[in-house]
Amino acid sequence: MAETGPLGIFGGTFDPIHLGHLRLADEAREALGLARIRLIPSGRPPHREAPGSSPEDRLAMARLAVAGNPALEVDDGEVLAPRTSYTILTLERLRAEQGPARPLVLLLGADAFEGLPSWHRWTELFEFTHIAVANRPGFAPHGRRWPGVLSPALEEACRERLANAPALAASPAGRVVAFDMTPLAISASDIRARIRGGTSARYLLPEAVLDYIQTHHLYR
Ligand code: ATP
Repeated sequence: MAETGPLGIFGGTFDPIHLGHLRLADEAREALGLARIRLIPSGRPPHREAPGSSPEDRLAMARLAVAGNPALEVDDGEVLAPRTSYTILTLERLRAEQGPARPLVLLLGADAFEGLPSWHRWTELFEFTHIAVANRPGFAPHGRRWPGVLSPALEEACRERLANAPALAASPAGRVVAFDMTPLAISASDIRARIRGGTSARYLLPEAVLDYIQTHHLYR
């Protein structure tokens, strides 16, 4: 039988995937009652310069990171897409794939959430998915925890949508919730800098991912 519980959707550059990402996914699963989480490495990201490793390497590292955890799966749709992968297009695909009734929950760190109004067709996202925002160390707006100070457009879009975790299972899309995660000030850019500088990145990311980086001479 097809799975019906809320499906978490977690996109990112994952360049490389690290324990901040994996803790966010695991804590979101528990706090929000998600049946499963789909990690979606981006292809060519619209918002940032080309990442340090190829889409194929980032996909391979994400697969290594989730191996052995049946609650996490990796989606290659954006990496394999021939053009820029916008989240709204991925959500259209997932909605068609999962049917109109299944709750979808887009997981975002607080920094990514604040940038939402720059995303392609961002106001339409709420038609396809709920959004759950993880507090991220160093990124709370103006040093405060979210919900704090947001841009007026985002504030306006969220005002009627704010909800608590149990509301996510009650409808397929349209709610916004915040959840707390164990603060982990780990970032992919810091990991790349350590590898470039020849210092240790151990214990910031899965061993299998670090082995992959070393074997393939990434971020040098
Ligand atoms: P970079 O340092 O290259 O910008 P990153 O570590 O922020 O990368 P991304 O792949 O850009 O990683 O992030 C994907 C998602 O994960 C975003 O929603 C981001 O907010 C969230 N995220 C990344 N690291 C953390 C962390 N340590 N705690 C909470 N959320 C995180």
